[in-house]
Amino acid sequence: MRAPCLKLHLAPLAILAALACACICGCSPKGPMFPLDNPAPRADTHSYAKPEEWKMTRVFLDLDVDFHRKVLRGTALLDLEHGPGSPAAAVILDTRALTVEKAEWSASQGAKPGAEAETWSDAEFSLGPDDPILGAPLRIELPAEARAVRITYETSPGAVALQWLEPAQTAGKKQPFLFSQSQAIQARSWIPLQDSPGIRVTYGAKIRVPRPLRAVMSADTNPFAEDASGKAIDASTLEFRFDQPKPIPSYLIALAVGDLAFANLDPRGGRQGRTGVYAEPSVLPRAASEFADTEKMVESIEARFGPYRWGRYDLLILPPSFPFGGMENPCLTFATPTVIAGDKSLVSLVAHELAHSWSGNLVTNATWRDFWLNEGFTTYLERRILEDIYGKDRADMEAVLGYRTLLDEMKTLPEKDQILYVDLKGRDPDDGFTQVPYEKGALFLRTIEGAVGREKFDAFLRSYFDKYAFQSITTQDFLGELADAFFREDPRLGSKIPVLAWVTQPGIPEGAAIPSSPLLKHVAEAAAAFADGKTQAASVPFKRWSSLEQLHFLRSLPKGLDAARMKALDEAFGLTHSGNSEVAAEWLLMSVRNGYSPAYPRLESFLIEVGRRKFIKPLYEELVKTPEGRARALAIYAKARPGYHPMAVATVDGILQGKGK
Ligand SMILES: [Zn+2]
Repeated sequence: MRAPCLKLHLAPLAILAALACACICGCSPKGPMFPLDNPAPRADTHSYAKPEEWKMTRVFLDLDVDFHRKVLRGTALLDLEHGPGSPAAAVILDTRALTVEKAEWSASQGAKPGAEAETWSDAEFSLGPDDPILGAPLRIELPAEARAVRITYETSPGAVALQWLEPAQTAGKKQPFLFSQSQAIQARSWIPLQDSPGIRVTYGAKIRVPRPLRAVMSADTNPFAEDASGKAIDASTLEFRFDQPKPIPSYLIALAVGDLAFANLDPRGGRQGRTGVYAEPSVLPRAASEFADTEKMVESIEARFGPYRWGRYDLLILPPSFPFGGMENPCLTFATPTVIAGDKSLVSLVAHELAHSWSGNLVTNATWRDFWLNEGFTTYLERRILEDIYGKDRADMEAVLGYRTLLDEMKTLPEKDQILYVDLKGRDPDDGFTQVPYEKGALFLRTIEGAVGREKFDAFLRSYFDKYAFQSITTQDFLGELADAFFREDPRLGSKIPVLAWVTQPGIPEGAAIPSSPLLKHVAEAAAAFADGKTQAASVPFKRWSSLEQLHFLRSLPKGLDAARMKALDEAFGLTHSGNSEVAAEWLLMSVRNGYSPAYPRLESFLIEVGRRKFIKPLYEELVKTPEGRARALAIYAKARPGYHPMAVATVDGILQGKGK
């Protein structure tokens, strides 16, 4: 229930003033409690689409995957509905580096399974000028009776969403591999569509791939179905069919093709279960054992925040060039193999991507300015899952490490980029992928939880997910919910939690619920004792620690360490050859910083093998700080670049050219 904003104890004059305001300027006496200075919060500055004129409602892809030419080729069929009033003369779609051969329109919708539109007529189309961030608008002229368009097109070999891997870049070394990464605004480089998170579509697809490869998508798949391995088209080609019946934003449309095998992860087994993992056959056993707790994680979050609404939840383990840790593609999280540590120490990534099934995929940021709604909530939920399954110590350690990373990154960010409601107009939304939406967003929610109590906050989150399920919402929408749930009824809360400062100001506001961890405190003390020369490396219980403690130890050491200390640490803990990617990346960073040459061969092999931006970006940034390091970076990058995803290439190119993207 909404509480009235005018309390009766207000002086009569104040009531009169408020009423006068309502009469004269037309504003409600009960405007937003936390108003943001944005007259059009749903306007997406990163898309050419005009959904108020024509809006796509379903996408159907019919594509051939050509590994020789490194292109996707075929058609995208979009069902359309028009806005109120008479339909506009054209629909505008987003594209990037697509070759458009033909556009057609139909008066009947054709994207539903089995409902092929009967007649198609050619439509005039034109591609506008190419913008380096937004790509090129595709304008298709339409008569008023149009209800669908079909575009025949081909992607470019350099499509930024797609990475085409040679067999040598895979684990099996025999077959090529393809995967997509559509977030934030890359879907337009493989599908002509309205590429805005505020516009939701269901989708279907027919994907033809060379034998014996398997295609998977962010859609309903039944790995136990008889035709899961694809219908034979001819001796050399298989066709896979997909359907995603839930409305999702375009950045969640995803495709991967490779030599993939499947393992069940659900204790209920086979068709009764809902969780599993796809990977190359040689990676599959390790992946299945590492992610054995996946079903438990789904159950943990369901118990608190409502049902999992997407059917199956599977993981896809990609080759190591995947530029992210994970991508929450619905029904099928894409994940880096660098989280397979052998001891489940890095499975927070799965908790994170799974949590996106609620925050992000179910309730989605309406524009990239609202990205913290996706990531702050998900980082918060991730820690709640970890607490449920692995205990409070583990969740606290994750929170402390996250908070430290946030503070470190904020030192390097201009004030405008320390803001949750960050203004990205005229910029690449990729610029907003910092720790701020993740860790500052999670800290904000943690602070509210601390003030109102966990029980109330959980009930709030559950009703929030129910209310906005399958919708895209703005920061202003969320702040309205927050005000109604807690702040209107309890004015004292506002003095404890400065909500607008949290959302619109840089830095960390007063009263934040800063995380702490007794375990990590001991670790920091051990690091200080080693740094002061009070203990030897051999007496530090490093190998008995979890990887989170190990990371904290390394990060708590002074930035500058002499060669003897570096050697002592390496000899005692085997850091240069660590099998844990997080620990290895941290150690390699320290090695570059301190000129520790015994680690250079591993540095080179790590940078060539792994394309995850979280690891490679700081390493290249550290390398280019000295002339010798820059020379080393250039030499390594010459070998590594062909194996990186286009998004990682853009990042490292920027660093080496001094743009620091
Ligand atoms: Zn995320």
